[in-house]
Amino acid sequence: MEQKIIFATGNSGKMKEVSSILEDLGLAVISMHDAGINMEIEENGATYEENALLKARAVAQSAGEHCIVLADDSGLEIDYLNREPGVYSARYLGEQTSYRQKNQNLIERLAGVPDEKRTARFVCAIAAVLPDGRELTTLGVIEGRIGYEEKGSGGFGYDPIFFVPEYGKTTAELTEEEKNAVSHRGRALNAMKKELKKYITVD
Ligand code: IMP
Repeated sequence: MEQKIIFATGNSGKMKEVSSILEDLGLAVISMHDAGINMEIEENGATYEENALLKARAVAQSAGEHCIVLADDSGLEIDYLNREPGVYSARYLGEQTSYRQKNQNLIERLAGVPDEKRTARFVCAIAAVLPDGRELTTLGVIEGRIGYEEKGSGGFGYDPIFFVPEYGKTTAELTEEEKNAVSHRGRALNAMKKELKKYITVD
């Protein structure tokens, strides 16, 4: 039976990035919704790794026995705000609040803060549950700074305010390929891809 990867997210922005990064594994990569799995998973872990594992395990219970289930948990850490919003990034100001509002709020909270104190990072943990029950996790980070205004229309979430000094652009101004090459999710997924290559067999 064909091996598949189910990615435990309902976020289409993430799904797009993940499918493109994992493309060369040669396996179908589908979202949990495409696999007919719809569930609310409580992310009550204290770390990105714990939350990613919680999601991967929950979906693995409903997935077919040949499936590899992957999940991620990620967030934005702003040093000046004691690493807020961190693991609460999706819930910051409430899940229903638009990212325009979340981003504006963060810019306002950093009003008057100089460049060198605007340091921030995106962090991403990827968890995998393999068909035999084995679990793996990887972590990826990208360092940057919070901008003074929203810039760019690519990516999703906090991308318009996350400035990457090496590019002189926000992650919302990078092409999909550029972002995937340096992003927290790209790095964590590439590390996971290396691990998975040891386990999967493509006929
Ligand atoms: P979760 O990993 O789905 O629990 O939520 C992580 C949240 O962090 C997302 O909803 C975004 O708000 C934010 N985030 C994570 N990765 C990115 C990214 O690549 N760009 C912008 N925002 C991100």
